[in-house]
Amino acid sequence: MRKPIIAGNWKMHKTLGEAEQFYADVQGEIPDPAKVETVICAPYPFLYRLAGLSEGKAPSVGAQNMHWEDAGAFTGEVSPVQLKDLGVNYAIIGHSERREYSNETDETVNLKLKAALGHGIIPIVCVGETLEEREEGRTEAKVSGQVKAAFVEVSRGEAEQTVIAYEPIWAIGTGKTATSEEAGAVCRTIRNTLGELYGGETAAKIRIQYGGSVKPDNIGELLAQPDIDGALVGGASLDPESFLRLAEVA
Ligand code: 13P
Repeated sequence: MRKPIIAGNWKMHKTLGEAEQFYADVQGEIPDPAKVETVICAPYPFLYRLAGLSEGKAPSVGAQNMHWEDAGAFTGEVSPVQLKDLGVNYAIIGHSERREYSNETDETVNLKLKAALGHGIIPIVCVGETLEEREEGRTEAKVSGQVKAAFVEVSRGEAEQTVIAYEPIWAIGTGKTATSEEAGAVCRTIRNTLGELYGGETAAKIRIQYGGSVKPDNIGELLAQPDIDGALVGGASLDPESFLRLAEVA
């Protein structure tokens, strides 16, 4: 019922030439988009070129961030209008690295989520706990608090368009994955929180990804969890072969 979505987050990696080569390697090999949605969230300078290469074919192209205003005096920022104009249809919002290093807050995440939805960009909203919060038993409270803050003033119809990525911060780039049961349990908590906000029928339509050291050899068991509908993948999305294997398992 919920179509799996595998998104690569390239972070600050690759040159333009390497990005083009990646597209040349995966296009035509990627599984049927009717069965699995695939997205590459690339650095801003590559988006125009990659959206041109993609031309509506898989993998789609996403940004790793965006501003919430349409235009204005915001040096160094990129607006949803500009992204949409390039053919970019997805944006990661509230990644933990931006929350940590770039002053992203629950409030800016909410503004960006509403702006993305207002411009027909599918937002991939990231939530997740630190190791300390997990050890203190605060995972569920942290994650459902982030979800509630992100969805303030977001309508039921808009909420259905969003993707949520549960990324435990301690599992990002560390090689430590949450066990599939741990990840599945937090994703169930997220769905329950969405149910509190919008009712069970809407909550059942929203896709929830897991992210944090996802690899071709652990994606199968993660996706077998009933509330995990895809993955947001950093390191293992950089290599075309590995990205294709992730998409094939989904
Ligand atoms: P890794 O897959 O490299 O752990 O990164 C996860 C991530 O942060 C994706 O957004």
